[in-house]
Amino acid sequence: MRRRLSRDTLRSDFVRKVAEISGQNLLACYQCGKCSAGCPVVSEMDILPSQVIRLAQLGSDEEVLNSRTIWLCASCMTCMARCPKGVDLAKVMEALRLIRLRKNIDHVDISSIDAGKLPQIAVVSNLRKFTG
Ligand code: SF4
Ligand code: SF4
Repeated sequence: MRRRLSRDTLRSDFVRKVAEISGQNLLACYQCGKCSAGCPVVSEMDILPSQVIRLAQLGSDEEVLNSRTIWLCASCMTCMARCPKGVDLAKVMEALRLIRLRKNIDHVDISSIDAGKLPQIAVVSNLRKFTG
């Protein structure tokens, strides 16, 4: 699908919210792809990290908020270290997760977790990251 980057898009609530929560200038990204090339979990992602920020710039909220990528990001900071524009993509991913969780949509069903079979720290970090 062809999308246009317009003034209205840049001023949309979604774009403003992502920039506000993440503290990142989404427009600084010029799509060099170095973040995607260095991401250790990119093979499991449905949208590349560089595509996440592009879609965020374009205000494609449904597409990014429904992607697996934002949940798979391990906040390892490799992308930030490689980004020539200093974009902290891990913070953008975190902002996107928060926006979704604030809609009261959890990523995991707590009742389906068998806490007895997992280390306590894994259960706690799971709940922190995947539930609102
Ligand atoms: S490395 Fe930085 S500038 Fe390049 S695509 Fe990723 S976020 Fe954008
Ligand atoms: S912070 Fe997330 S998107 Fe960036 S390299 Fe690490 S796992 Fe990939």
